Amino acid sequence: MATKATQAAKAMAGKAVKTAQAARAAQAARTARAPRTPGASGPADYDAIIVGGGHNGLVAAAYLARSGARTLVLEGRPKTGGAATTEAPWPDAPDFKVTRLSYVMSLLPPTIINDLQLERHGYKIYPMGPYYQAFPEGGSIKLYADDAKRNHDEVSKWSKKDADAMPRWDAWLAGLAEVLGPLLLTVPPNLGSRKPRDLNETLRLAWRHRGLDVRTIADVTRLMTMSIADLLDDWFESPQVKGALAVNGVIGTWAGPFEPGTAYVMAHHSIGDVGDGHLGNWGFQEGGMGAVADAIASAARRVGAEIRLNAPVRKLLLKDGRASGVELENGQQITARVVVTSLHPRTAFLDHVGRANLPDDFVTDIERWKTRSGVVKINLALAELPDFTADPGTNLQEHHTGSVEMAPTMPYIERAFTDAREGRPAVRPFSDGVIPTAFDKTLVPDGYHMMSLFTQWVPSDWNEEPHTEELQAYADRMIDCYNEVAPNFKSSIIHTDIVGPYQMEHEYGLIGGNIFHGELSLEQLFHMRPAPGFADYRTPVPGLYYASSATHAGGGVCGIPGMQAAKAAIADRRATRRK
Ligand SMILES: Cc1cc2nc3c(=O)[nH]c(=O)nc-3n(C[C@H](O)[C@H](O)[C@H](O)COP(=O)(O)OP(=O)(O)OC[C@H]3O[C@@H](n4cnc5c(N)ncnc54)[C@H](O)[C@@H]3O)c2cc1C
Repeated sequence: MATKATQAAKAMAGKAVKTAQAARAAQAARTARAPRTPGASGPADYDAIIVGGGHNGLVAAAYLARSGARTLVLEGRPKTGGAATTEAPWPDAPDFKVTRLSYVMSLLPPTIINDLQLERHGYKIYPMGPYYQAFPEGGSIKLYADDAKRNHDEVSKWSKKDADAMPRWDAWLAGLAEVLGPLLLTVPPNLGSRKPRDLNETLRLAWRHRGLDVRTIADVTRLMTMSIADLLDDWFESPQVKGALAVNGVIGTWAGPFEPGTAYVMAHHSIGDVGDGHLGNWGFQEGGMGAVADAIASAARRVGAEIRLNAPVRKLLLKDGRASGVELENGQQITARVVVTSLHPRTAFLDHVGRANLPDDFVTDIERWKTRSGVVKINLALAELPDFTADPGTNLQEHHTGSVEMAPTMPYIERAFTDAREGRPAVRPFSDGVIPTAFDKTLVPDGYHMMSLFTQWVPSDWNEEPHTEELQAYADRMIDCYNEVAPNFKSSIIHTDIVGPYQMEHEYGLIGGNIFHGELSLEQLFHMRPAPGFADYRTPVPGLYYASSATHAGGGVCGIPGMQAAKAAIADRRATRRK
């Protein structure tokens, strides 16, 4: 941003360590001064402040610092990462670490990995094995992301017709990924606006898609509007195959598989590897998801960003209607030319900016923002691997290396949702389980394993009370479901960690317990995310940018909102300087 700082950042690239240390010392000295009056004459404390040190905030910080901006990240918790976190939740077993909330990588685009050189900072992915479901009535199915021959053999066990349909389904999804993948990296245009710049962006988007034919547009329309159940009924007949393919349609969603819009949720979770165009290639980060955040934080620090922990922000400071800094919970005020917030929209706008400083329509949109999901994360330390009746043995086998699901059929999944919608925790919850320690030996002591169960659903208002005992009973039922297909499961558990919606909201700032800062429902996608007119990572407050998972391409650990918000801030700053 400032020319001097740009030069400093360039110098940093060469003599990084010494210069970065000097820059950090200077920044520390600057902020140790008496709190500034916002907008007082003289330079701001920083060029850019990032509110929230989740992975998106860290990505924004890295891009801004790389552009030469003096950048400060303010994280409320004692550690960075937000929902991308590795923790040791059992005080009596500090050697056992769990990837506590998010658990698998897919959507982080190569652009960000390369721009920030994340591999040099510890980003290391083990590709996942197959999707695996063992059935209570006997038998199992494995689905492979990139092995058509083995997929055919597996699916043939349940339906020859479905096995023949599978390559066509994969090709169909791959075709849609070609359209939807690049859209994830597109800044949504401000549809309906007549401003020349907005019209121009809308036309550019239309022009880019001029090659789409009638059938492709019809397929995209189907994907955006159908339920995953209806979509799969069009393609497959076997309940087992449909159950396997339905899971991605309901992950993190307050909707059962029969709800319109769940077909798109499946696509969002299946696109994967944006930029490379591969479908659904998921993987485990070594060291758990916290290590992804650590790699980004390290990359940000390397280019001079300062990260402050235990620094919860109380409100945004405004001067003449522009963002001019923030005030911390402890009363300290820190000024900056640009503020990027990466918090849930209710916190970022209604609490930190304040209704009085925002247009009425925008306030209404944020008040109406849907942010439920009824997710419960269950992390288990295991003394041995599950010994499935259908595929016996506690030795490490291929079916332990991917998703170890408990979602046998669509009616099973729908039943779990119906329970929760009627106000009860699911009697038989569904689970997207993984055992990252099949590859990653850094999380637990030798010979042990960690299993992460992403489960749904409990009622959508369980963010309001801890429901501790009911959550324990829910987790016990979930474990019983696995025990039916792997009879050693229950006895192999040595530690249990249960994180429900209340804890997600109060400890991690995930309001309503929604894992994405807001549902991926149709009315909250693309140009509507987080509100019409403000999907370009800018906000109604000049100088305030928005980088949370509640923007287009979020949620998930994809970093795209962080990158886009930083790019918007950098572009605006350059435009102002040019003027
Ligand atoms: C249980 C669960 C499972 C998931 N599984 C996956 C998965 O497997 N794969 C995947 O890609 N995605 C997954 N997700 C979604 C993904 O983790 C999130 O979409 C993503 O991590 C959000 O990143 P973010 O940076 O936008 O926000 P956050 O991670 O929420 O970061 C916001 C940060 O702001 C901080 N903060 C809050 N209030 C303040 C304040 N007042 N002042 C300062 N700091 C503050 C928070 O402590 C936090 O660090 C999962 C999420 C959950 C909850």
